[in-house]
Amino acid sequence: MQYADVILPVPLHATFTYAIPEGMSVVKGVRVLVPFGRGKKYVGLVDRVHDQSPQDYQVKAIEVVMDTEPIVTDAQLKIWHWISDYYLSPIGDVYKAALPGGLKAEDGYKPKTETYIRLTEQYQNVTALHVALNVLSRAKNQLNAFTEYLALSHWDEIEDNVEPEEVTREELMNVSACSSATLKLLEQRQMLETYEIEVGRLNHGGPYRPDLMKALSPAQQEAYNQILLSMMKKQVTLLHGVTSSGKTEIYIHLIQLALERKEQVLFLMPEIALTVQMMQRLQRIFGDRLGIYHSRYSDAERVEIWQKQLSDNPYDVILGARSAVFLPFKNLGLVIVDEEHETSYKQQDPAPRYHARSVAIMLGKPVLLGTATPSLESYHNAKIGKYGLVELKERYQGIQLPEIQIVDTADLQHRKMMHGPFSPLLLTRMREALERGEQVILFQNRRGFAPVVECRQCGWVPTCQHCDVSLTYHRQLNQLTCHYCGYTYRVPTECPCCGSTELRSRGYGTEKIEEQVRETFPDARIARMDLDTTRTRNAYERIISDFSAGRTNILIGTQMISKGLDFDKVSVVGIINADGMLNYPDFRAYEHAFMMMAQVSGRAGRKGKRGLVILQTKQKEVSVIDQVVRNDYTSLYKELIAERQAFRYPPYFRLIYVFLRHRHEGTVDTAAIEMGSRLRQWFGNRVLGPDKPSVAKVKSQNIRKLVLKLELGIDMQKVREYLLLAQSQMLADKRYSSLQVYYDVDPL
Ligand code: ADP
Ligand code: ZN
Ligand code: ZN
Repeated sequence: MQYADVILPVPLHATFTYAIPEGMSVVKGVRVLVPFGRGKKYVGLVDRVHDQSPQDYQVKAIEVVMDTEPIVTDAQLKIWHWISDYYLSPIGDVYKAALPGGLKAEDGYKPKTETYIRLTEQYQNVTALHVALNVLSRAKNQLNAFTEYLALSHWDEIEDNVEPEEVTREELMNVSACSSATLKLLEQRQMLETYEIEVGRLNHGGPYRPDLMKALSPAQQEAYNQILLSMMKKQVTLLHGVTSSGKTEIYIHLIQLALERKEQVLFLMPEIALTVQMMQRLQRIFGDRLGIYHSRYSDAERVEIWQKQLSDNPYDVILGARSAVFLPFKNLGLVIVDEEHETSYKQQDPAPRYHARSVAIMLGKPVLLGTATPSLESYHNAKIGKYGLVELKERYQGIQLPEIQIVDTADLQHRKMMHGPFSPLLLTRMREALERGEQVILFQNRRGFAPVVECRQCGWVPTCQHCDVSLTYHRQLNQLTCHYCGYTYRVPTECPCCGSTELRSRGYGTEKIEEQVRETFPDARIARMDLDTTRTRNAYERIISDFSAGRTNILIGTQMISKGLDFDKVSVVGIINADGMLNYPDFRAYEHAFMMMAQVSGRAGRKGKRGLVILQTKQKEVSVIDQVVRNDYTSLYKELIAERQAFRYPPYFRLIYVFLRHRHEGTVDTAAIEMGSRLRQWFGNRVLGPDKPSVAKVKSQNIRKLVLKLELGIDMQKVREYLLLAQSQMLADKRYSSLQVYYDVDPL
């Protein structure tokens, strides 16, 4: 009798054994349909085939085999197990994260269509548009939706011969905040109409044109040679190159070399929203040998790419976000991790809480990490010789790094000279730039209108009923939102504590910055890029391409705008408030603050002109501010690494956070104390806590956290065994039957 160990999509640290019925052919890596629990059926993945009959229970049989060939290779399964082990994640959770949904579902997938909006034919001319605007002048909502449509599609620039662009219904509703009833009315007036397009399908990338590669500059050629040399000695090489030094051109040459050797390349980017520019640059050269893989694509598209990678005609280059590390490769020869310092490479919730950079390294192929601001970990690894290190210190064509001027907002505020969030200097420089026809970027790492609403009389602040946080005010939607659970609330008209009607908002989110910029610069074209404005599929691309093309003058955004974008005409970057980043309660606050500020500064001044950054802060004496001004990564590194060593933090110590979650605060409190003392029996003073994390309640679940600080060289296999043992002992206690225990290994 043959048996199969099957991975099921359930959060358990185990596989399940099933009997293989006579005559059924089952191999490792195929999907099978199996019964599980009472009356349930799951699609699972075969992890192992063997002939050892389980002793202690009655085995059930596999019902259906779904594949003739494995859809997951041995190498992939090995990675799944490594992730499950290392990150203490149930293997079922890894399976869920790794496979696109369409491969897990019982009944295939349907092509997905998306609804688009366009002008009806009779309104596609200037005269008719003026008529329409007149007709709508008294229907405020419809007028608003209609003009937003004209702006998005560029019909409002019809006289400048701009080609109209396609607009999805979802995007229009998101941007104009209009209801579907409003759109219906516009359809009834036969001004707008809808149409359907099947989304995605494999992209048709065009021809392969290696001849279009740019010749490397001498400095770039030198770096390229050093990288090749380093790769002969070390598995991982760190390319530390200032912003705009041409790292991307070097990547392109390395990819080309791999293709000449008939090897495949995996190119990871931190957030796929940001890949539009990169995609265009790579597609121009590699054409349809390039495939794109990320979570914003529909499931159908992801399934197709997965299957293409298994076929005899796979993509040679895959550009993807972190989940692309799960794709099958036939002959992977190189992995590039661009912007390796980015924290979005680490998955936060749900499990598996893996770091794509670490997984990329575990793929066992040569890895190139590229960035202008290395993570402390990677730079440390390079310094101690574990990774190769290649530096590229000059920008392409010797363009200077921007000049950074500090503005002391504490002093200005004291002298009542601030204009809302803006210093006089920032306003002057913005005005001058706009007058010269140049562009401005404003960076504020906080979305929404205002982070806090409070009662002027008694100081009451509305908080989320399900979470331990104050609510963010969103003006356009006129509601309060919890950024942790997403729950929304009406804005109260009076204070529930004292009855006062004087409620005011405090602080600045991007939405409020935008409003103030509109008031101050009424003639400027302004765009905002944050989570709220980029929820839809093409919104991000549109904001970027409008800004690149000079259709917008001022771009306001959160850290989204700091990543890997290459603009030509940005002469001024304003960092509205550095303090929010500096005051963040975390040992990585300065590291992250430096990275964000250095990256966003890097957007200023490209081709031909030195840029200017205005950095507003109340803490100008903090060392990291000076390090940003001098773009002095080395001094930042020296300072932080000494601190990490002194206070026993990574990379000198390994951190594991143990989280406990339960509805009842009392239960989670006693459970956390008990877990703490169990762990202390084995780990002694390596255990800290339990503590309340900074947000101690999310979605009505109370959370407690224990910290494990482990010296390097400790037997991690043992550590994991003990942790899982403590967990199972806890869960065996009836009081804790609905307790959730999960881990964050190498937390960010
Ligand atoms: P990084 O990735 O280091 O930020 P990029 O590769 O984006 O830098 O280069 C910045 C700009 O300079 C881009 O517009 C790029 O096309 C241009 N550039 C860089 N190197 C070259 C080169 N060797 N030949 C022509 N243009 C280059
Ligand atoms: Zn009050
Ligand atoms: Zn909430």
